[in-house]
Amino acid sequence: MLGESEQRFRAIFDEAGTGISLVDLQRAGTPIQTNRALQTMLGRSQEELGFFETYDELTASDDRETDAATFRELCEGKRDSLRQEKHFTLRDGSSVWANVIFTLLRDAAGLPRFVIAIHEDITERKRAVERLQAKQELLDLAQKSARAIAFDWYVQQGVNVWSAEQEALYGLQPGSFDGTYQGWKRLIYAPDWHVLLKAIKHAQETGEVAVEFRVQWPDGSLHWLATNGRMFFDERGRPFRMVGFTTDVTPRKLAEEELRRSEAFLAEAQRLSSIGSFSWRVATDEIKWSEHLYRIYELEAGTPLTLELVRTRVHPEDLTLYEKMVGQARTGADDFEWQYRLLMPDGTIKYLHAVAHATRDRDGGLEYIAAVQDVTERRLSEEALGNLRSELAHVSRVATLGALTASIAHEVNQPLSGIVTNASTCMRMLNADPPNLDGARETARRTIRDGHRASDVITRLRALFGKQDVVTEPVDLNEAAREVIALSLSELQRGGVILRTELAEDLPRVTGDRVQLQQVVLNLLRNASDAMSVVEDRPRQLTIRTERDDEGVRLTVQDAGVGFDPRAANRLFEAFYTTKDDGMGIGLSVSRSIIESHHGRLRATPNDGPGATFSFSLPCGNELNTKVQ
Ligand code: ADP
Repeated sequence: MLGESEQRFRAIFDEAGTGISLVDLQRAGTPIQTNRALQTMLGRSQEELGFFETYDELTASDDRETDAATFRELCEGKRDSLRQEKHFTLRDGSSVWANVIFTLLRDAAGLPRFVIAIHEDITERKRAVERLQAKQELLDLAQKSARAIAFDWYVQQGVNVWSAEQEALYGLQPGSFDGTYQGWKRLIYAPDWHVLLKAIKHAQETGEVAVEFRVQWPDGSLHWLATNGRMFFDERGRPFRMVGFTTDVTPRKLAEEELRRSEAFLAEAQRLSSIGSFSWRVATDEIKWSEHLYRIYELEAGTPLTLELVRTRVHPEDLTLYEKMVGQARTGADDFEWQYRLLMPDGTIKYLHAVAHATRDRDGGLEYIAAVQDVTERRLSEEALGNLRSELAHVSRVATLGALTASIAHEVNQPLSGIVTNASTCMRMLNADPPNLDGARETARRTIRDGHRASDVITRLRALFGKQDVVTEPVDLNEAAREVIALSLSELQRGGVILRTELAEDLPRVTGDRVQLQQVVLNLLRNASDAMSVVEDRPRQLTIRTERDDEGVRLTVQDAGVGFDPRAANRLFEAFYTTKDDGMGIGLSVSRSIIESHHGRLRATPNDGPGATFSFSLPCGNELNTKVQ
């Protein structure tokens, strides 16, 4: 029969909300009594919980031995109480944590008699702490990976304590920040202060903080910080606390700045070089243009682009070409290059040169990246240069004319005085009594002959100095040379030149423009004569020779003049290269282009002795076998 106090104990024991077990150290078999709360906590019945073995089973294997050892110490009376945090694994695999306080009860003789164990279920608390730890861990990780430093600013307290990391963001030594608002303000790069004020105002309205600003470190360097956070308000709506993260974003900002600069630089380079660029994704017809390309097409920057819109600017005569190019580009995947014209709304024409490179976009689709250059100016100046060249050729002929006036006068004068003499002889013969008709007839015939001679000379001159289109005909180089010699003879003689002609007998004809070729010969003769004008110590010998050679026929003009420096051989042919006071430096450059347009070659070689040799070779093509009559 249980005593009253024992019954009361039993009742409290059973009904208690905490799990309690009572170990009777002198009882064999099932020494442990448990209450309902403990049975529920551990998911076992009293029968099962009566044995130590069951607790061993429930205890995580890692803890089993140490737990048992300390419990033994208690049972042996070496200590009076013990606290253990026990982790039980239940049948369904779930975990229960209990904070267990063991207390030893002794009998009257002071020997260990009972152990009472109170189990406080701390599973929930444990879980909450675990969750919190995980969160903290995550937060730490987030901070570390973003290099973000947390801040917690009690707005109304005035003074704040900063972490060493936070101080480092501002370039400060740990513990050196005074924590005041004014102190903080002094750290901000002054021109950015208004940005922060705006952000704080915004935070007061919305509770959101997001701002990037610069701080000036004590060493003077500027650093970009980015802050993201939240503002909290008190019950009267006043901000009282701001929390968030601050990150040093200097490298990103610098990279952005660099990018902006290089983009600006590229745009400027495109503007300067008149090169625009575009990309075209063939599958989606997505087209992107650089700023300068918009300028070339005279479209407002940012106008959405379609192939159709681009097409409206293409010159009508180039449309077929344009469509062909687009079609080919769509099917092929090759780099391409093309020239086309644009017709602007105001009627002006632009010449464009595009070079496109085929590549693959991120999705593997065909994409062209192209550079487009506005070559209008170049085209126009090339045209102008072409015109200038033909003008110059003309001018140089006219210039030659001046120098030849004397010989022309001589050439024309001769037949003219012949005509006058013959005509007066004829008159005299007719006036005689009786009239000498045979003599008159003969002198009239001579008059006619001289008239023809004069008109021939005029015709030749007109052909030589008039600006005429190129005519291609079989040309007898010997004959052409003879005519030029005839025209220049008196001038050569005046210059004291001794002329030797070695014209090959069996020279085939060449095909070309007779007048142009004569222009070359005339120019070579004049140069040779000029080169010898200062020569006093030797004969001013000039040889003009024609012959056959491997390339066809060759004409050579050799002089005994001042010669030239072999290193300057190529410069002689440059336009405007001259060593003469009154020279134009055009003769040889025009001569070379004439000979080259006849598929021939004009060269200059210094002589072994004094003077220079200029010669040109021309192919005779079909005329190769045609002998000069
Ligand atoms: P220009 O006669 O007006 O100077 P050219 O083009 O005919 O123009 O000749 C260019 C230059 O080549 C001459 O100024 C001269 O220096 C050099 N040159 C041409 N022919 C001869 C030559 N036969 N001997 C030496 N130098 C010559």
